[in-house]
Amino acid sequence: MPWRCDMSTHGIKHIVAVHSAKGGVGKSTVAVNLAIGLTQLGARVGLMDADIHGPSIAKMLGNTSWPQPGPYQDTIKPLEAYGLQFISMANLTTAETPIIWRGAMLNSVLSQFFSHVQWHELDYLIVDMPPGTGDVQLTLAQNIPLSGVVVVSTPQELALSDTIRGTQAFQRLEVPILGVVENMSYFICDECQQKTEIFGDSAVHMLAEELKTRILARIPIEPGITASGDEGKPFILAHPESESSKTLEKAAQKILNQLEDKVPTSVLNLEWVPMEAGERITVPPRMEVDSGLEMKALWQVSQTELGIVWENGDTSIIPVRKLRLACPCAVCVDEWTGEDLLDPKTVPEDLSVEHIQTVGRYAIQPVFSDGHDTGIFHFESLRSLASD
Ligand SMILES: [Zn+2]
Ligand SMILES: [Zn+2]
Repeated sequence: MPWRCDMSTHGIKHIVAVHSAKGGVGKSTVAVNLAIGLTQLGARVGLMDADIHGPSIAKMLGNTSWPQPGPYQDTIKPLEAYGLQFISMANLTTAETPIIWRGAMLNSVLSQFFSHVQWHELDYLIVDMPPGTGDVQLTLAQNIPLSGVVVVSTPQELALSDTIRGTQAFQRLEVPILGVVENMSYFICDECQQKTEIFGDSAVHMLAEELKTRILARIPIEPGITASGDEGKPFILAHPESESSKTLEKAAQKILNQLEDKVPTSVLNLEWVPMEAGERITVPPRMEVDSGLEMKALWQVSQTELGIVWENGDTSIIPVRKLRLACPCAVCVDEWTGEDLLDPKTVPEDLSVEHIQTVGRYAIQPVFSDGHDTGIFHFESLRSLASD
């Protein structure tokens, strides 16, 4: 059956953002160790360093090599370390080519960065977000279909309204808060193992309650870990017996418990039902966008035409070749100038769609018979393509 796409062998199941309201709270360290904690539980995990101002996960994982090109034009393969697939902006820049990333350019670079990495079959992609809740973070959260967010803070930052406001911004985008990690939470003496709540009563319980979420971990300050100089080896591997490692292992388990049975939000593949005379129809899960545009069904009208039934009963029929020519991806359209890069002469007249997956609840991503699969078509653009 051509219109089928097996969830277990395609794409990313869950994308989890690791967020902090401010820098310097150890967010990247938490992201790296959580990602490894998830691999230790048997999950296939990727880690994307989107925090290009912070410490580089490439360095933390001891692999700063240049990534290899991927199977499609303008794509790269992620690097590997300790059973983890990962990519960091640091892998793509060198000391000789410092680049200042700001505002709109940063947005565009991160979205591109995200869509150009060819991850190989992931259960979880952990995204180490830039700290804060500005345009950059919100654009990322809107463009990437997140299954949840992990909030990292320190005792001093916890009570700050920034942390609450920042986290509520994700909640407004209907991204579930998976829990709070309190870093540098209390002190454990190397000599006598005594625990001291140096910051007094922790505010993490109040924060978790305020955000209607749970505490994933309270990571102590353990001077032995900090001083051991395990550059390139995360502490969960270098010091598995430490309190920090044990609490993060439990946090990884808590994340897994919340997500493993959930329908993946990042890539929802459609189940295609065979129809008479070569037609196939399917009813996707309820999908909607801000504009209220909802898709009820998608079907293969013929080899070269795609049909869409909208929630209000309207039907759109789009020639597959027309859809392909309107592809908005970075391979087909120059992202900076808007110039068309696709030569229509290279697109065959009898182009068909081999399979389709939904992206979040707002778009579809077809795989065309010419092998092109990087175009994400928002419902609005499908609607206007059909009425053109
Ligand atoms: Zn002591
Ligand atoms: Zn394209």
